[in-house]
Amino acid sequence: MFSKIEHIGIAVTDATASVELFSRLFIAQPYKTEIVESENVSTIFFQVGPNKIELLQALTTDSAIAKFIEKKGEGIHHIAYAVEDIHAEMNRLKNEGFIFINEEPKQGADNKLIAFIHPKSSNGVLIELCQEMK
Ligand code: ZN
Repeated sequence: MFSKIEHIGIAVTDATASVELFSRLFIAQPYKTEIVESENVSTIFFQVGPNKIELLQALTTDSAIAKFIEKKGEGIHHIAYAVEDIHAEMNRLKNEGFIFINEEPKQGADNKLIAFIHPKSSNGVLIELCQEMK
């Protein structure tokens, strides 16, 4: 079951400039920066009240973020939902006909197990499931 929106991911080309911009917007500094090797991205997290915003910058030209920006420009990249049991949720959604980009959950940023639903099967919205790792 989805419990809440865990964070919203925003693709950016220049993390330094974007941190400066979002810091002025939120009147807050990022609480975490983390490189996710498997995705070739650098992630930067802001906490805004109860909500989290993740900025994503590509580290290589073949990263999914680089390709996204090339096609669509900077902007909202994905919506992440918190789930209790990512394996159970992936099974449920596969049975409902949703297509996953990765067949098995993988390690994501901020101590999470993650999986992405292909936007082709969800009205053009890239959906991330994330489960807190214990
Ligand atoms: Zn994310």
